Amino acid sequence: MTSGPHAKKIGRRQESRYPLDPRGYRLMDIEKRISEAFREFSERSTQPRQDIARSLVRLGKSGTAFSAEDLLKRLHRSNPRIGRATVYRSIEKLVRMKVLDRIDFTDGTHYFRLCGSGGHHHHLACTNCHRVVDLTFCLDEDQIAAIGRQESFSIEDHAITLYGLCKDCRANSR
Ligand SMILES: [Zn+2]
Ligand SMILES: [Zn+2]
Ligand SMILES: [Zn+2]
Repeated sequence: MTSGPHAKKIGRRQESRYPLDPRGYRLMDIEKRISEAFREFSERSTQPRQDIARSLVRLGKSGTAFSAEDLLKRLHRSNPRIGRATVYRSIEKLVRMKVLDRIDFTDGTHYFRLCGSGGHHHHLACTNCHRVVDLTFCLDEDQIAAIGRQESFSIEDHAITLYGLCKDCRANSR
């Protein structure tokens, strides 16, 4: 049925035009990703940085989205002297390096996540528990380019987050 001249277009991969993780991480394991990132932004490996890295690896492996305060509280359980500024600065740098994804919620909060799918992807986010799931779908490249042309923009990147209630939150609200 789909074996006409257009069949190829329908089945093609859609992510090619958008930048993949600049370091080409994709399948590289989380521990390596974190430790390389920390090495890149600081010469010294201080105790607080090691603690932050260890917590991030654990959070990354579980796929949990967290707020900066969540991370700070977690760190304070084992080391109450870790400064807020150090934690916030580390998160900020990791977001800029695209090691952490930032997900903004409409209630004004934002969460971070170390996503397994290092390349271009989008998110599904629960507005109640802030659970975040990776989505590997993307809009059609031609459609995005056409939207840009309409407004005389050249589109360079995009972000898509779908918001809703996860299965657990829906069950609890019944
Ligand atoms: Zn993500
Ligand atoms: Zn939820
Ligand atoms: Zn996309």
